[in-house]
Amino acid sequence: MPNNSPLAALQARVAAVNDVLNAISVLTWDSRTMMPAGGAQTRGLQISTLTGLALELLLSPLTEAALAAAEQAVQELAPDALERSMVAQVQQAVAHHRRIPASLTQERAALRTVAQAAWIEARARSDFTLFAPHLEKTVALARRYADCAGWREHPYDAMVALYEPGETASSLKQLFATLRQGLLPLLAAAQAQPPRRRDFLFRDFPEAEQRSFGLALAEKLGFDLQRGRLDTTVHPFEVSFTREDVRITTRYRRDYLPASMFGTAHETGHALYEQGVDPAYTRSVFATDLIGLYAVGGTSFGAHESQSRLWENHVVRSRDFWRLHFTELQSHFPEQLADVTPDEFYAAVTHAEPGFIRVEADELSYDLHVMLRVDIECALMDGSLPVADLPGAWNAAIQRDLGLTVPNDAQGVLQDVHWSTGYIGSFPSYTIGNVMAAQLMAALQAQDSTLAPAIQSGHYAPLKAALGQAIWQHGRRFGREELLARSTGRGLDPAPYLAYLQTKYSPGTAHQ
Ligand code: ZN
Repeated sequence: MPNNSPLAALQARVAAVNDVLNAISVLTWDSRTMMPAGGAQTRGLQISTLTGLALELLLSPLTEAALAAAEQAVQELAPDALERSMVAQVQQAVAHHRRIPASLTQERAALRTVAQAAWIEARARSDFTLFAPHLEKTVALARRYADCAGWREHPYDAMVALYEPGETASSLKQLFATLRQGLLPLLAAAQAQPPRRRDFLFRDFPEAEQRSFGLALAEKLGFDLQRGRLDTTVHPFEVSFTREDVRITTRYRRDYLPASMFGTAHETGHALYEQGVDPAYTRSVFATDLIGLYAVGGTSFGAHESQSRLWENHVVRSRDFWRLHFTELQSHFPEQLADVTPDEFYAAVTHAEPGFIRVEADELSYDLHVMLRVDIECALMDGSLPVADLPGAWNAAIQRDLGLTVPNDAQGVLQDVHWSTGYIGSFPSYTIGNVMAAQLMAALQAQDSTLAPAIQSGHYAPLKAALGQAIWQHGRRFGREELLARSTGRGLDPAPYLAYLQTKYSPGTAHQ
């Protein structure tokens, strides 16, 4: 990073913001892993105070002076110089936060705690009406936020920009139409296949053994435990406090083996990204989301999700992986898996059958869950769908896309936490991650013919190195589309994803 003085001064300001944001991440990690329930109220206040402090640091006259001096200092540099990019990113964040009134940010933050508590109760009682008034406020505030942040075609565009810069309601519509066309016939064909054996997934799997297998799995994929940890939580997540300390979490279900196993593989993918960011970017703008006020090395939610889905689905949920490693799993659970072959295990964990719950969905129906949420979010943001009509719209979409009748709100419109925490606009990133994962995998294997054989024989270091070079090392230096263009020669393209699903899930391929 720059060490001449105007740029160093700006870097010092950004580093201070990054430190505060990382402190928030530690408090958040603790609140989701270790903290007793009683700590929630005051923890919320602590995080809110620190968020205010981060914003104060970013918008202070000192930062403003440092930014003005740095702008001068980079004028002579080449257009693609690192220092120019650093200054531009700080400028953009400062301009963004100046457009949003502090009172609106505070109102949104305050509503979050109340709305989430209401959502927890509404979901427990499966009663949408308990959550509806809070969602109405959340949507009203999001619409005000969108108007302040600015949008051209659709108010949703301002929300998506927080997670997936460059995407809009209309670009997503196009992407989703292509995916839907490819996915629906694949799903129908998969459902017409004879049933597979899955009984053994639901046997008794003690948590300690699941954990030791999960840790070994994370290490096998390349997770550095000198710079990371695996802990237990209710809703699995990954968080980094700089690249030198990256935490992953999982949840163990004693009566269902895949949940923690694939969950751990997923979070490991996120962790590898964070551990792989160039050390020179530590505490810099390239490891800080100054707009979302979050210390993170990944460049967008979708890019992050591409890494988790790649390791979870392309590597671990593959026939090769289980042919190689099933005996290791068996050694942890010799009785439970005594009567199972690697191919039976693979067939069971790639069983495609639509269900009500997004987080439990198979690869073929997962994106349909995402798409219906995005349709609903767009309609809420432009006012064409009143909150009161939401359960009806939800149930109709599940019936149309998955052929299922939603039995109650808990398994329907109340299942996800996102809307209660004000996260409107983040759902598209899940599907973008799926698309990007397949595109990267196809391109990297085409560029290096030794990569696929290495993965097939259980050597994951070459894949780790290739992803590190293409994606991880760059941190937030480039946006998602630029990263894709540099590593695959084009922007986001759904074709490799549909080809991957076609190969993996077409009838006849399951028992080759
Ligand atoms: Zn994820």
